[in-house]
Amino acid sequence: MPTHTQTEQTSRPAGRFPTDFGRTPFLVIWEVTRACALACVHCRADAVAKRDARELDTDEGMALIDQIRALGDPPPLLVLTGGDPMWRKDLTPLVRHATDVGLTVGLTPSGTAAATPRRLAELRDAGLSRVAVSLDGPDPETHDGFRRVRGSYGWTMRLIDSVVELGLPLQINTTVSRLTLPTLEATADRVAALPLSLWAVFFLVQTGRGEAVEQIDTEQCERVLGFLFDLSLRVPFGIKTTEAAHYRRVVWEREAALAAAGEVAPLVARRRHLRASRAVNDGNGFVFVDHVGDIYPSGFLPLVRGNVRTGRLVEVYRDDEVFRRLRDPDALRGRCGRCGYRALCGGSRSRAYADTGDPFAEDPLCAYDPGPMVEPLVAV
Ligand code: SF4
Repeated sequence: MPTHTQTEQTSRPAGRFPTDFGRTPFLVIWEVTRACALACVHCRADAVAKRDARELDTDEGMALIDQIRALGDPPPLLVLTGGDPMWRKDLTPLVRHATDVGLTVGLTPSGTAAATPRRLAELRDAGLSRVAVSLDGPDPETHDGFRRVRGSYGWTMRLIDSVVELGLPLQINTTVSRLTLPTLEATADRVAALPLSLWAVFFLVQTGRGEAVEQIDTEQCERVLGFLFDLSLRVPFGIKTTEAAHYRRVVWEREAALAAAGEVAPLVARRRHLRASRAVNDGNGFVFVDHVGDIYPSGFLPLVRGNVRTGRLVEVYRDDEVFRRLRDPDALRGRCGRCGYRALCGGSRSRAYADTGDPFAEDPLCAYDPGPMVEPLVAV
């Protein structure tokens, strides 16, 4: 049987990723501000066009970066997000400090006029490793409709051009919901025409403004995951799902089927090359710090477990009871609790919480019915 986990790809050399997620997360997301000029219909952060006076200031941001570095070796990846991180005037020194202490830093600027080529060049020169740009439709009509700002598609394309011209690795982020599903294949064609490193496909969690956005159903989700797997065999970039951990189940099943048909070796070997070494999930290889320093297992799981102003990120991540339970596949309930793939997948804890108020409940967007099975089929 093939072994696989998730599809995160980075520009780091192989073997330089955290693997003991009880000690060190793979990914730390810091929401440097909640301010943003856009008003996207799915926005987790409920972003507004004004900075919050309570945001971590520059010195606190530098101290947070040191806390992130203290999470261990190899260090986690750091992604600076928002809102729109370009609203922070101190972004360049923050990126420089993070790079100087040995972190790999990614950025998710909004597709607006704030992401000028000059500022992006400054960030590149400060050591920025990757830029992730959101593209939620193949044309202005669909993308601007989702982002709720006319002209956003044009700004997004200009941002993509700048990133490519500056030689920065490009990631495209796309949200799957009932709104974007009809154009997803056309979006994939648009994405595949770009020189990108990674396509990160986010499956809606109905939280923040996303509460009002319609979710796809489980059969549609299963079809999208199969489509992504088929695409992953043809394209030179990585494909990663966010809040759809059951992509790992689909990949497992599909690779096993290919192996049984004797068709697997070169394709799967190439796909494995694009992956990190193990699964990443809410609180399990992943931690989120919001604009005022509150620590969460995920930006989509609104359970505050501490604050970096008053506590240590390393202690919260390693020792907090909720974080520890989120790393225990046997703590899961419902279908996820009985599922043979629970150690490999584990389902979206954020979606389980948004749906039921219980972060350990089953992921309602998964079509798989494990029956009464309780033993893991797949260990990681
Ligand atoms: S039932 Fe839960 S653990 Fe099993 S594949 Fe679905 S989401 Fe993953």
